[in-house]
Amino acid sequence: MINIKENMVTIKIDGEPVKAKKGATVLEIAIKNDVYIPNLCHSSQLDPWGACRLCMVENQEGRLITSCEARVEDGMEIVTESDEINRGRILVAQLLIANHEMDCLTCAQDDHCQLQEVTSYLGIQKEHLNNLRRKVVEIPVDVSNPFFVRDLKKCVLCGICVRVCNEVLGVNAVGFGFRGYETKITTFQDKPLLESNCVSCGECVVACPVGALVPKETLSPSREVKTVCSYCGVGCNIFLGLRDEKIVQVRGDPESAVNEGNLCVRAVTLTDSLIIRNA
Ligand code: SF4
Ligand code: SF4
Ligand code: SF4
Repeated sequence: MINIKENMVTIKIDGEPVKAKKGATVLEIAIKNDVYIPNLCHSSQLDPWGACRLCMVENQEGRLITSCEARVEDGMEIVTESDEINRGRILVAQLLIANHEMDCLTCAQDDHCQLQEVTSYLGIQKEHLNNLRRKVVEIPVDVSNPFFVRDLKKCVLCGICVRVCNEVLGVNAVGFGFRGYETKITTFQDKPLLESNCVSCGECVVACPVGALVPKETLSPSREVKTVCSYCGVGCNIFLGLRDEKIVQVRGDPESAVNEGNLCVRAVTLTDSLIIRNA
Protein backbone atom coordinates (compact mmCIF):
# COMPACT_ATOMS: atom_id res chain seq x y z
CA MET A 1 0.00 0.00 0.00
CA ILE A 2 1.33 3.49 -0.84
CA ASN A 3 2.02 5.57 2.26
CA ILE A 4 0.82 9.05 1.28
CA LYS A 5 2.82 10.71 4.09
CA GLU A 6 6.07 9.13 2.89
CA ASN A 7 5.32 10.49 -0.55
CA MET A 8 5.20 14.09 0.66
CA VAL A 9 7.88 16.62 1.59
CA THR A 10 7.69 20.08 3.12
CA ILE A 11 9.38 23.03 1.47
CA LYS A 12 9.24 26.76 2.09
CA ILE A 13 8.28 29.17 -0.64
CA ASP A 14 9.01 32.78 0.32
CA GLY A 15 9.02 31.72 3.97
CA GLU A 16 5.67 29.90 3.81
CA PRO A 17 5.74 26.14 4.48
CA VAL A 18 3.93 24.10 1.83
CA LYS A 19 3.44 20.38 1.33
CA ALA A 20 4.69 18.97 -1.94
CA LYS A 21 4.58 15.61 -3.62
CA LYS A 22 8.01 13.98 -4.03
CA GLY A 23 9.19 14.30 -7.62
CA ALA A 24 7.19 17.47 -8.31
CA THR A 25 9.03 20.53 -9.55
CA VAL A 26 9.29 23.77 -7.61
CA LEU A 27 7.35 25.57 -10.35
CA GLU A 28 4.50 23.04 -10.20
CA ILE A 29 4.24 23.46 -6.43
CA ALA A 30 4.37 27.26 -6.72
CA ILE A 31 1.55 27.22 -9.31
CA LYS A 32 -0.47 24.88 -7.08
CA ASN A 33 -0.09 27.31 -4.20
CA ASP A 34 -0.97 30.40 -6.27
CA VAL A 35 2.56 31.80 -6.25
CA TYR A 36 3.32 33.35 -9.64
CA ILE A 37 6.75 32.67 -11.12
CA PRO A 38 7.20 34.07 -14.64
CA ASN A 39 7.55 31.34 -17.28
CA LEU A 40 6.98 30.75 -20.97
CA CYS A 41 8.23 27.27 -21.84
CA HIS A 42 6.45 25.37 -19.07
CA SER A 43 3.46 23.20 -19.92
CA SER A 44 1.80 20.87 -17.44
CA GLN A 45 1.54 18.15 -20.09
CA LEU A 46 5.27 18.17 -20.94
CA ASP A 47 8.55 17.29 -19.25
CA PRO A 48 10.61 20.25 -17.97
CA TRP A 49 12.54 22.01 -20.72
CA GLY A 50 14.33 24.90 -19.00
CA ALA A 51 14.64 26.94 -22.17
CA CYS A 52 13.23 30.38 -21.40
CA ARG A 53 15.16 30.90 -18.09
CA LEU A 54 12.40 33.18 -16.80
CA CYS A 55 11.46 30.91 -13.93
CA MET A 56 14.73 31.37 -12.04
CA VAL A 57 14.40 31.31 -8.25
CA GLU A 58 16.92 31.25 -5.43
CA ASN A 59 17.51 28.17 -3.27
CA GLN A 60 18.69 27.99 0.36
CA GLU A 61 22.33 28.06 -0.81
CA GLY A 62 21.73 31.35 -2.60
CA ARG A 63 22.05 29.71 -6.03
CA LEU A 64 19.80 30.67 -8.93
CA ILE A 65 18.01 27.60 -10.28
CA THR A 66 15.30 27.10 -12.89
CA SER A 67 12.18 26.25 -10.92
CA CYS A 68 10.67 24.27 -13.81
CA GLU A 69 13.56 21.77 -13.61
CA ALA A 70 14.33 21.72 -9.86
CA ARG A 71 12.64 18.84 -8.03
CA VAL A 72 11.41 19.48 -4.50
CA GLU A 73 13.45 18.12 -1.58
CA ASP A 74 12.44 18.03 2.04
CA GLY A 75 13.52 21.23 3.84
CA MET A 76 14.14 23.15 0.60
CA GLU A 77 13.76 26.93 0.93
CA ILE A 78 12.88 28.87 -2.17
CA VAL A 79 12.83 32.62 -2.73
CA THR A 80 10.85 33.67 -5.79
CA GLU A 81 11.47 37.42 -5.68
CA SER A 82 14.62 39.51 -5.22
CA ASP A 83 16.41 42.28 -7.11
CA GLU A 84 18.99 39.82 -8.40
CA ILE A 85 16.37 37.33 -9.62
CA ASN A 86 14.37 40.05 -11.33
CA ARG A 87 17.43 41.58 -13.02
CA GLY A 88 18.03 38.24 -14.75
CA ARG A 89 14.37 37.82 -15.67
CA ILE A 90 14.11 41.36 -17.05
CA LEU A 91 17.13 40.84 -19.30
CA VAL A 92 15.68 37.59 -20.66
CA ALA A 93 12.26 39.19 -21.24
CA GLN A 94 13.77 42.25 -22.93
CA LEU A 95 15.69 40.06 -25.37
CA LEU A 96 12.50 38.15 -26.17
CA ILE A 97 10.53 41.31 -26.83
CA ALA A 98 13.29 43.05 -28.78
CA ASN A 99 12.44 41.13 -31.98
CA HIS A 100 8.79 40.58 -31.28
CA GLU A 101 6.13 42.13 -33.48
CA MET A 102 4.02 43.94 -30.90
CA ASP A 103 0.46 44.53 -32.05
CA CYS A 104 -1.33 43.49 -28.90
CA LEU A 105 -4.50 45.44 -29.62
CA THR A 106 -5.29 43.41 -32.72
CA CYS A 107 -3.63 40.19 -31.60
CA ALA A 108 -6.00 37.27 -31.02
CA GLN A 109 -4.04 36.38 -27.90
CA ASP A 110 -4.47 39.82 -26.29
CA ASP A 111 -5.44 39.41 -22.62
CA HIS A 112 -4.50 35.70 -22.60
CA CYS A 113 -0.87 36.19 -23.57
CA GLN A 114 1.81 34.86 -21.26
CA LEU A 115 4.38 37.28 -22.70
CA GLN A 116 2.12 40.18 -21.73
CA GLU A 117 1.74 38.65 -18.29
CA VAL A 118 5.50 38.29 -17.87
CA THR A 119 6.35 41.83 -19.05
CA SER A 120 3.63 43.38 -16.95
CA TYR A 121 4.79 41.43 -13.87
CA LEU A 122 8.38 42.57 -14.43
CA GLY A 123 7.33 46.18 -15.08
CA ILE A 124 9.03 46.36 -18.49
CA GLN A 125 8.38 49.65 -20.30
CA LYS A 126 8.85 50.49 -23.98
CA GLU A 127 11.82 52.77 -23.22
CA HIS A 128 13.67 49.82 -21.66
CA LEU A 129 13.87 48.31 -25.15
CA ASN A 130 15.37 51.29 -26.99
CA ASN A 131 18.96 50.03 -26.76
CA LEU A 132 18.01 46.51 -27.75
CA ARG A 133 15.56 47.01 -30.56
CA ARG A 134 16.48 45.18 -33.73
CA LYS A 135 14.54 44.58 -36.88
CA VAL A 136 11.68 42.09 -36.61
CA VAL A 137 12.51 39.24 -39.00
CA GLU A 138 10.04 39.31 -41.89
CA ILE A 139 8.48 35.86 -41.98
CA PRO A 140 5.23 35.57 -43.96
CA VAL A 141 2.20 34.54 -41.89
CA ASP A 142 1.21 30.94 -42.70
CA VAL A 143 -2.55 30.91 -43.29
CA SER A 144 -2.59 27.60 -45.19
CA ASN A 145 -4.18 25.58 -42.39
CA PRO A 146 -8.01 25.78 -42.45
CA PHE A 147 -8.27 26.16 -38.67
CA PHE A 148 -5.37 28.23 -37.45
CA VAL A 149 -2.84 30.88 -38.38
CA ARG A 150 0.90 30.69 -37.67
CA ASP A 151 2.68 34.04 -37.26
CA LEU A 152 6.29 33.36 -36.33
CA LYS A 153 6.99 37.07 -35.83
CA LYS A 154 5.32 36.56 -32.47
CA CYS A 155 7.04 33.28 -31.65
CA VAL A 156 9.22 33.23 -28.52
CA LEU A 157 10.82 29.86 -29.43
CA CYS A 158 9.54 28.24 -26.26
CA GLY A 159 9.44 24.89 -28.10
CA ILE A 160 6.04 23.94 -26.67
CA CYS A 161 4.45 23.34 -30.10
CA VAL A 162 7.37 21.12 -31.14
CA ARG A 163 7.23 19.08 -27.94
CA VAL A 164 3.42 18.76 -27.96
CA CYS A 165 3.45 17.65 -31.60
CA ASN A 166 6.32 15.19 -31.07
CA GLU A 167 6.05 13.96 -27.48
CA VAL A 168 2.29 14.02 -26.89
CA LEU A 169 0.95 13.31 -30.37
CA GLY A 170 3.88 11.59 -32.07
CA VAL A 171 3.12 13.44 -35.31
CA ASN A 172 6.45 15.31 -35.65
CA ALA A 173 5.03 17.91 -38.02
CA VAL A 174 7.15 20.77 -36.67
CA GLY A 175 10.66 21.23 -35.30
CA PHE A 176 13.40 23.81 -34.82
CA GLY A 177 15.07 24.84 -38.04
CA PHE A 178 17.95 27.08 -39.16
CA ARG A 179 20.56 28.44 -36.74
CA GLY A 180 21.29 31.34 -34.37
CA TYR A 181 19.36 34.52 -35.10
CA GLU A 182 17.60 32.74 -37.98
CA THR A 183 16.24 29.95 -35.76
CA LYS A 184 12.53 29.36 -36.25
CA ILE A 185 9.88 26.69 -35.99
CA THR A 186 9.63 24.88 -39.30
CA THR A 187 7.96 21.99 -41.05
CA PHE A 188 9.90 19.49 -43.16
CA GLN A 189 11.55 21.52 -45.95
CA ASP A 190 9.99 24.68 -44.46
CA LYS A 191 6.74 24.06 -46.36
CA PRO A 192 3.39 25.67 -45.37
CA LEU A 193 1.58 23.69 -42.66
CA LEU A 194 -1.03 22.40 -45.09
CA GLU A 195 1.71 20.70 -47.12
CA SER A 196 3.28 19.13 -44.02
CA ASN A 197 2.15 16.04 -42.11
CA CYS A 198 0.23 18.24 -39.62
CA VAL A 199 -3.09 16.60 -38.78
CA SER A 200 -4.70 19.88 -37.63
CA CYS A 201 -5.39 18.61 -34.13
CA GLY A 202 -4.91 22.15 -32.79
CA GLU A 203 -3.00 20.98 -29.71
CA CYS A 204 -0.09 23.32 -30.45
CA VAL A 205 -2.53 26.20 -30.86
CA VAL A 206 -4.04 25.59 -27.44
CA ALA A 207 -0.60 25.26 -25.85
CA CYS A 208 1.20 28.21 -27.50
CA PRO A 209 1.71 30.84 -24.78
CA VAL A 210 1.63 33.81 -27.18
CA GLY A 211 -0.12 34.88 -30.39
CA ALA A 212 2.13 32.91 -32.75
CA LEU A 213 -0.49 30.16 -33.19
CA VAL A 214 -4.08 31.31 -33.07
CA PRO A 215 -7.36 29.91 -34.36
CA LYS A 216 -8.86 31.55 -37.45
CA GLU A 217 -12.11 31.81 -35.54
CA THR A 218 -11.22 34.24 -32.78
CA LEU A 219 -14.54 35.31 -31.31
CA SER A 220 -14.50 35.14 -27.52
CA PRO A 221 -17.33 33.06 -26.08
CA SER A 222 -19.88 34.69 -23.80
CA ARG A 223 -20.21 31.49 -21.77
CA GLU A 224 -18.88 27.94 -21.60
CA VAL A 225 -20.64 24.59 -21.28
CA LYS A 226 -18.82 21.54 -19.97
CA THR A 227 -19.67 18.41 -21.92
CA VAL A 228 -18.29 15.20 -23.44
CA CYS A 229 -17.21 15.04 -27.08
CA SER A 230 -19.53 12.64 -28.90
CA TYR A 231 -17.45 12.01 -32.01
CA CYS A 232 -15.96 8.72 -30.82
CA GLY A 233 -15.99 6.33 -27.88
CA VAL A 234 -13.04 7.89 -26.02
CA GLY A 235 -15.31 10.41 -24.30
CA CYS A 236 -12.97 13.41 -24.05
CA ASN A 237 -14.16 16.05 -21.59
CA ILE A 238 -14.47 19.40 -23.31
CA PHE A 239 -15.66 22.94 -22.77
CA LEU A 240 -17.73 24.43 -25.58
CA GLY A 241 -17.48 28.21 -25.77
CA LEU A 242 -20.84 29.66 -26.85
CA ARG A 243 -21.84 32.96 -28.30
CA ASP A 244 -25.23 33.71 -29.75
CA GLU A 245 -26.01 29.96 -29.42
CA LYS A 246 -23.12 29.08 -31.74
CA ILE A 247 -19.97 27.22 -30.76
CA VAL A 248 -17.08 29.61 -31.24
CA GLN A 249 -14.47 27.77 -29.22
CA VAL A 250 -13.66 24.25 -28.03
CA ARG A 251 -11.07 23.41 -25.42
CA GLY A 252 -10.14 20.22 -23.59
CA ASP A 253 -10.75 19.98 -19.86
CA PRO A 254 -7.29 20.01 -18.23
CA GLU A 255 -8.77 18.36 -15.09
CA SER A 256 -10.10 15.39 -17.05
CA ALA A 257 -8.41 12.05 -16.41
CA VAL A 258 -9.61 10.88 -19.85
CA ASN A 259 -7.94 13.46 -22.09
CA GLU A 260 -5.98 15.71 -19.66
CA GLY A 261 -6.95 18.79 -21.67
CA ASN A 262 -5.99 17.28 -25.05
CA LEU A 263 -8.25 17.18 -28.08
CA CYS A 264 -8.09 15.72 -31.56
CA VAL A 265 -8.98 17.30 -34.88
CA ARG A 266 -12.61 16.10 -34.69
CA ALA A 267 -13.27 18.17 -31.58
CA VAL A 268 -11.59 21.19 -33.15
CA THR A 269 -14.00 21.05 -36.10
CA LEU A 270 -16.96 21.32 -33.72
CA THR A 271 -16.65 25.10 -33.97
CA ASP A 272 -17.54 25.16 -37.64
CA SER A 273 -20.02 22.35 -37.82
CA LEU A 274 -22.41 22.58 -34.91
CA ILE A 275 -24.97 24.94 -33.51
CA ILE A 276 -26.13 24.30 -29.97
CA ARG A 277 -29.85 23.75 -29.55
CA ASN A 278 -31.77 24.08 -26.30
CA ALA A 279 -28.63 25.48 -24.69
S1 SF4 B 1 1.75 37.63 -28.76
FE1 SF4 B 1 1.25 38.70 -26.85
S2 SF4 B 1 2.75 40.34 -26.72
FE2 SF4 B 1 2.77 39.62 -28.82
S3 SF4 B 1 1.34 40.94 -29.91
FE3 SF4 B 1 0.18 39.16 -29.23
S4 SF4 B 1 -0.70 39.76 -27.26
FE4 SF4 B 1 0.96 41.20 -27.71
S1 SF4 C 1 -1.93 21.07 -35.20
FE1 SF4 C 1 -1.32 19.14 -34.18
S2 SF4 C 1 -0.28 17.98 -35.78
FE2 SF4 C 1 -0.36 20.08 -36.50
S3 SF4 C 1 1.57 21.01 -35.87
FE3 SF4 C 1 0.07 21.41 -34.24
S4 SF4 C 1 0.30 19.74 -32.79
FE4 SF4 C 1 1.31 19.09 -34.68
S1 SF4 D 1 4.91 28.87 -32.11
FE1 SF4 D 1 4.21 29.25 -30.00
S2 SF4 D 1 4.45 27.29 -28.97
FE2 SF4 D 1 5.70 27.19 -30.83
S3 SF4 D 1 7.75 27.82 -30.19
FE3 SF4 D 1 6.69 29.64 -30.94
S4 SF4 D 1 5.79 30.57 -29.14
FE4 SF4 D 1 6.33 28.49 -28.57
